[in-house]
Amino acid sequence: MYVFKKMLFILVFGVGLIIQAFAQQPSEATQRLLERNQMFEPQIIEVSENVYSAVGYQVSTSAMIVGDDGIIIIDPGITTPLTENVRDAYREITDKPVKAIIYTHAHGDHTNGASVYYSEGVQIWARSNYGSEAKLAQDNGYVGGVRPSNTQGFDLLPEQKIGIGVGIPPTNRPNLGATLMADGAEPSQVPPPPSGTIEPTHTFDGERQILDIAGIHLELVKAPGETDDQLYVWYPQGRVVFAGDNFYQSWPNTYPLRGTARRSIRDWINSLDSMVQEQPEVVVPGHTTPMQNAVTVLSNYRDALQWVLDRTVEGALDKLTADELIEYTRLPEELADLDYLQDYYGSRWGTVRDIYAQELGWFDGDVLNLHRESPMQQAQRVVELLGGVDGLAIKASEALNNGDSLGAAQLADAWTKLVPNSAEAWSIMAEALTIIAEQTFNAPARNYTFSSANRARRVAEGLAEE
Ligand SMILES: [Zn+2]
Repeated sequence: MYVFKKMLFILVFGVGLIIQAFAQQPSEATQRLLERNQMFEPQIIEVSENVYSAVGYQVSTSAMIVGDDGIIIIDPGITTPLTENVRDAYREITDKPVKAIIYTHAHGDHTNGASVYYSEGVQIWARSNYGSEAKLAQDNGYVGGVRPSNTQGFDLLPEQKIGIGVGIPPTNRPNLGATLMADGAEPSQVPPPPSGTIEPTHTFDGERQILDIAGIHLELVKAPGETDDQLYVWYPQGRVVFAGDNFYQSWPNTYPLRGTARRSIRDWINSLDSMVQEQPEVVVPGHTTPMQNAVTVLSNYRDALQWVLDRTVEGALDKLTADELIEYTRLPEELADLDYLQDYYGSRWGTVRDIYAQELGWFDGDVLNLHRESPMQQAQRVVELLGGVDGLAIKASEALNNGDSLGAAQLADAWTKLVPNSAEAWSIMAEALTIIAEQTFNAPARNYTFSSANRARRVAEGLAEE
């Protein structure tokens, strides 16, 4: 028996290596993500007269508006070293002093660079509920994340790192301040990036706050969506709207896989509509490059979300489960092919499941979900059906051999539950997840899958050494 298992292990490892060799040819998903990354070559884009957006220096964008006797910065950036690179590039355009900083929301990738621009007297503007998402997580006790693996790619091997679909995190960029971690480190071991977040000096409660600073007229507008504390900035003179993270060139991340408090799709739709009402010519996203024809772009974005919301409600009333709704909410042809609605970062499938979960709760109407077995009982049932652990092992490696990596992963999952010290089981799991990850287009799902594969591989290697 032992010899058989050893042979099987060698066989599986061998097959894994062969598959890896074949996998040198990148999947379509990988190719599309690599092509997308061309957008993130560091560049300063002149959006309209006196308005600039720095793209690719950091995972988020950072904008500068040049006024008569000073500049305004919208979203400084993710870390102080990366923000210094942007500041140096902006200093080649103008040396006028910084008069104000605006945070579109409290996420660290937009605020951590603030100290690079701040000095006494600089106004820092945000909404009065600034930081509401982190505060809620803290109040609820979810500090330090709730997921065992990482969705942003921090802990991946260099060849697995592509980014998040709407930007490249600093840890992917060795030359941009990325000596933050050892490859293969657990997310909990990753030291926080250098942060210079400064609390807002000025906030507003209402719908709209008018600012006249350095001869620049701006309107800050309440815009809950990606976060409850979100705002957009309207610059009428240039007909530019700075959308924060309520718009970027990807399906919106209405639910982040890392796990976070509710993001209201209904608020998000209203905030997009409010941006459309301003009749902007250009939209500057919180990630990715600016887009012209802003009214059309933002209307399409709004309409796509509305379509998915309406179809989800309609299908749910018709007793479709969340899984079934994913097909039912497929976008109409005129929206389906738009590049800025593809699942680079957020995903339509994630949005549908999230609407269902938020608005109808966990029960999807399927009667068998009222009578679910525990994961261990389910694993035992699979093993029984396949004639014991040996049968399961053969089927799992066959699935991997035949290119059915999802089938292999599902069987290996049952196997690892029943025989947690089986190096063979963990090894098949690692191989299968690696292939699945490489073929996954949605960047956070891809990163999470690679991260899970790496964890399984570490377990397999640890057990094989014993
Ligand atoms: Zn962001």
